[in-house]
Amino acid sequence: MYNFEYTSPSSVDEAAAAVAAGGQVLAGGQTLLATMKQRLAAPETLVDLGKISGLSGVKKDGNSIVIGAMTRHMDVANSDVVQANIPALAALAGQIGDRQVRARGTMGGSVANNDPAACYPSAVLALNATVHTNKRTIAADDFFQGMYTTALEDGELITAIAFEIPKRAAYVKFKQPASRFAMVGVFVAELASGPRVAITGAASSVYRQADMEKALAGNFTAAALDGVAVSAKGLNADLHASADYRAQLVKVVAQRAVTAAA
Ligand SMILES: Cc1cc2nc3c(=O)[nH]c(=O)nc-3n(C[C@H](O)[C@H](O)[C@H](O)COP(=O)(O)OP(=O)(O)OC[C@H]3O[C@@H](n4cnc5c(N)ncnc54)[C@H](O)[C@@H]3O)c2cc1C
Repeated sequence: MYNFEYTSPSSVDEAAAAVAAGGQVLAGGQTLLATMKQRLAAPETLVDLGKISGLSGVKKDGNSIVIGAMTRHMDVANSDVVQANIPALAALAGQIGDRQVRARGTMGGSVANNDPAACYPSAVLALNATVHTNKRTIAADDFFQGMYTTALEDGELITAIAFEIPKRAAYVKFKQPASRFAMVGVFVAELASGPRVAITGAASSVYRQADMEKALAGNFTAAALDGVAVSAKGLNADLHASADYRAQLVKVVAQRAVTAAA
């Protein structure tokens, strides 16, 4: 570690001003502190969102479940409202990392970070969520822009995320056994507008699988995906899995997710 300034504002406006002045947001620290220790990040000022009231919590609003950016993974997993309305989202949160990570890590931190193997981005995309920031709202389809890259502008903070309540949904993750991040994770949802399938872990950023969505429209069964070919082109290859293996996993895990949802 090295020296840095620490500030703990009490409002979103104060936090945004501190970030505009060059600070970096600190949420649960589960990614940021590790990257600082590894000297992959060297912010001069940390802007801790932990003391801002109103940034955590879960509420139902019409056909949406709105979750504050600072809501911890364990609080999403244990929320009666999430369990009753989007059980797949509660189950996803309960599978993130280990108990310690779930006790500190936040939804806003995970979604802002957009790690290619993170779980929440697949739920944001499959559940047609809306990302609320201190400046605007951003549709899920416009939010994730590439590896660790999102539509957030400098000085823009996520304040909450609103998830559409699906008719049915499931998240299935084939875990990287050491970290429990997704080697491949698939979130499937049947919304009023039709099925959505989001894949994480397989490519440089989370993405929707259009061929699967087409196949599931009107036939929401695992068998409907039998004829969908998944190409390895552009998929990640690393010491854990080749691109071909990940392509195979995308199909198998998607079929398991559809079976779980149905
Ligand atoms: C051992 C281990 C296992 C893990 N396993 C999994 C897993 O299985 N699945 C999974 O999905 N994740 C996993 N994670 C990651 C975990 O979910 C982190 O909590 C998450 O990536 C970051 O959230 P955080 O609140 O800790 O954010 P921080 O580390 O505090 O911040 C992360 C980044 O987001 C920015 N940021 C934070 N909050 C906001 C905001 N409200 N607005 C704008 N920018 C913001 C920060 O500036 C920083 O750049 C794991 C982490 C560890 C250490």
